[in-house]
Parts: sequence; structure tokens; C-alpha cells
Amino acid sequence: GIPSVRIKPIAERRRSRQIMVGSVPVGGDAPVSVQSMTTTVTADINATLQQIAALTASGCQIVRVAVPSQDDAEALPIIAKKSQIPVIADIHFQPKYVFAAIEAGCAAVRVNPGNIKKFDDKVGEIAKAAADHGVPIRIGVNAGSLDPRLLQKYGKATPEALVESALWECSLFEEHGFRDIKISVKHNDPVVMIQAYRLLAQQCDYPLHLGVTEAGPAFQGTIKSAVAFGALLAEGIGDTIRVSLSAPPVEEIKVGIGILESLGLRERGLEIVSCPSCGRAQVDVYTLAEQVQAGLEGLKVPLRVAVMGCVVNGPGEAREADLGVASGNGKGQIFVKGEVIKTVPESQIVETLIEEALRLAEEMGVE
Ligand code: SF4
Repeated sequence: GIPSVRIKPIAERRRSRQIMVGSVPVGGDAPVSVQSMTTTVTADINATLQQIAALTASGCQIVRVAVPSQDDAEALPIIAKKSQIPVIADIHFQPKYVFAAIEAGCAAVRVNPGNIKKFDDKVGEIAKAAADHGVPIRIGVNAGSLDPRLLQKYGKATPEALVESALWECSLFEEHGFRDIKISVKHNDPVVMIQAYRLLAQQCDYPLHLGVTEAGPAFQGTIKSAVAFGALLAEGIGDTIRVSLSAPPVEEIKVGIGILESLGLRERGLEIVSCPSCGRAQVDVYTLAEQVQAGLEGLKVPLRVAVMGCVVNGPGEAREADLGVASGNGKGQIFVKGEVIKTVPESQIVETLIEEALRLAEEMGVE
């Protein structure tokens, strides 16, 4: 489930309209969600699902996958179906992949108006397809790929240029009655980025996806994102965040969650997460996850419990979870902090997890 938020937020939250990215509400009074993007070739379905498994276990709530080719577009139906968290298709250049992603069951589509040639002509069709499928669109403006018209007008990617590009694209969708939109206006300079989002926040009520582009290696990127997101979130601006690091995506999630926790925008509770299962799965992960969920219900501990479909990658993919099970061959490997501590028969998985959860809770000083 989605972790709860404190009753008294740091600032009055900007009032944004709410959209649904699959099962995750974004905007309105929904908790700020944390997302990341896979680094695998999307067409490599198993590798992508395995990375989604690791992201899910680390607390990622929404995942984005790049769709630069036809092979990637063809992989979307399986990835969207199997992922336990909503999948957003990231589309540049090719409007036809937008339709493919919507048809494939993706929870949302991200488009970059500066990068989609002849995109403007297609907006009506995209709006219709998206509306028919209840799929929101993220208008994702990037300083590095700003619409040439605006680059000429402003000379460079100023906050005004980024905002104008985003709102222009929104207006094209609005002409077709489509408002199921969230927006990002990313820049690599946190100062410009903060100014752009402030401006944008004043000029529309769409939910905002915060991001600093090319934030850099883990250390620098963490600082840039923490400063930029921190400034905006402390003003009540921002509905979903993605930390960009030149590091494994799981690191982005850790930083994102850390930022929200630092601002008191998130308190951890019990979270059951499960892998999407891939070609390796030896059990019905979903059923097992439901049983574990039921077994641990009511336990008030800030633990993330991962249910993974195989013993090959499960423990490794769930390294960032506190506790978990990797199942296969009628057995369950129980792991704590990514280390296998024991192996039990399938029938004892739930009771063993409860035991271990209680033990961890006691260690943490939780009653
Ligand atoms: Fe990862 Fe195994 Fe689940 Fe596949 S079945 S996603 S390898 S844990």
C-alpha cells in the first residue's frame, strides 16, 4: 500500500487536480509518490522485469521504461501486465509508439513535445486514444531538448521557456478536452529548475512531476535533487518525484524516499511488495504476496517485505527490502536485509515471515 502521510504537512500543499497513474493517485491530496526509470533495453523483457522487481522491492511506486524502437514497443504488453507497479512508457520522436503504449496497457505515457516531430498534428488522436483508455499523459519538457521555436524566442532554456513549452503542449490537449495531464519541466541547474516549477505551479493546476535532469553521479545528483525537491516540496509544490542519478535506479528510489522522509512527507509503515515475476518465476508470486499481506495485516511496523518469485535473483533484487521470501521448488528462502537466513517449506513461509517481522520490530524498538 501507499505509505501514510503526517497530519501536519510542512506547508500548505498546492492544490492540483488528481490523476491516476494506474493504481497510484498523483496530485490532489495523494502522498507524493516516488518513481524511477529502468536502464535495461526495454525489449529485453526478462532483464526489464528483473530491474522492475528490484525497484519495486526498494519502494518504487511508478516505473518508466524507454520506448525508442519497435522492439521496445512490442515488449510493452507483457511488461505492463506483469509489473506490480504502474508502468509509464517514455516516448520520444515517434507518435506511433504512443498509440502502441496505450494499447499495451501502460498506465501512462510520457511525451516530450520538443522531440516529437509533427506531434502537434497527432494530438487529437492521442488525446482520444488516451481518454478512451483512461491513460494520463505526462508532458515532459527538458532543457536539453526544448522546442526549437522557444529556444529561438528565449535564447536558452529559461524558466519561462520551459513553462511556455509545457503549457503550449497542454493547450493543444485541452483543445481536445483532454486534461488528464501531469507536467515536468526539467533542467540540470537546480536554481533554474526551482524557478520553472514555481512559475508553472502558479499558472496551472496540473499535478507536477519533479526532476533535475543530468543530475550527475550519485553524490552530486543526490545533493542537487535534495536541494531542488526540498525547496519546492517545502513550498507545497510537487506531486511525484524522480531523482536522476548516473547510478543503478534503486539508488534513485533510496534518495527519493529519503527526501520525502526528511521533510516529514512520508512515514513508513508496513509495505508488502512483490516482484513482477519473469521467465524465472517458479511460484505464483501474486497469490503468495496476497497470503503474506493477509498474514502480516495489522502489524504496525515500518518494514518493507518483499515477495520474490525465484531463488536465483530474488534475494539480490530485494536487497533493499528489510525482509522477504524468494520462492521456488516448494521452498522459501527467507532473507533479511538481502541475506538468506534460512530455507523453509512453502507451507511455513507466512508464519516464518511473521516471526521475523516481529523480531525485526523488536530490534527497532517498535512495540
Ligand atoms: Fe526477479 Fe526471480 Fe521475480 Fe524474475 S521471478 S522478477 S528473476 S525475483
